[in-house]
Amino acid sequence: MGASLLIATHNAGKVQEISALLAESPWQCAGLPDGTPDFPEDGATFAENACGKALFYAKYVGLPALADDSGLIIDALGGEPGIYSARYIDPGLTQAERSQCVLEKLASTPVEARTARFACHLALAVPGRLVHETIGTCEGRITGQAQGDGGFGYDPIFRPAGHTHTFAQIDRAAKAQLSHRGQAVRAMIDFLQTWDPSIGVS
Ligand code: IMP
Repeated sequence: MGASLLIATHNAGKVQEISALLAESPWQCAGLPDGTPDFPEDGATFAENACGKALFYAKYVGLPALADDSGLIIDALGGEPGIYSARYIDPGLTQAERSQCVLEKLASTPVEARTARFACHLALAVPGRLVHETIGTCEGRITGQAQGDGGFGYDPIFRPAGHTHTFAQIDRAAKAQLSHRGQAVRAMIDFLQTWDPSIGVS
């Protein structure tokens, strides 16, 4: 059995996507133990938040930890919701309500100006040390209405460039081929193939 790699997120959608991408690797994916506290995401960038989460959870659990910070960047909203994607407008909203708010804000924005991208910053840390970072982005447009019930987050309102379906209308493998997270995890897998966790550990 391979060494354990902590998938350091409380977001079930991210856990499913990252674990599926790592399924062929020798790493054994582990989830956060029950009762693990939330890392306070107060960084100014995806990179700061991802690195902060990876370092925090690696130290807390005592395993190499992979943390993702990601979000949706909408040009017509000046880059919002960006790093605030998970709690945009009001942390008390459901995700469906949050997506609906985005659609309402864009109600008078013509289709050609509804450009957006998902971004993902992935960080790998061992207790006390950041090891590697990768990124991925996926260009697309915000739809006029929510479509599909797969995926998570803003998937029902995001149509990747050159495609006719939203991320919520395609299966997980198809999304992984295109997505910001798929790109970042594949780049991380390339690194993991040559990484020896025992090097640099004193
Ligand atoms: P955080 O990285 O935990 O701060 O939260 C990222 C948020 O961005 C998620 O809660 C979603 O709202 C959104 N997000 C990130 N990646 C995706 C994706 O692949 N599909 C849909 N929404 C996403």
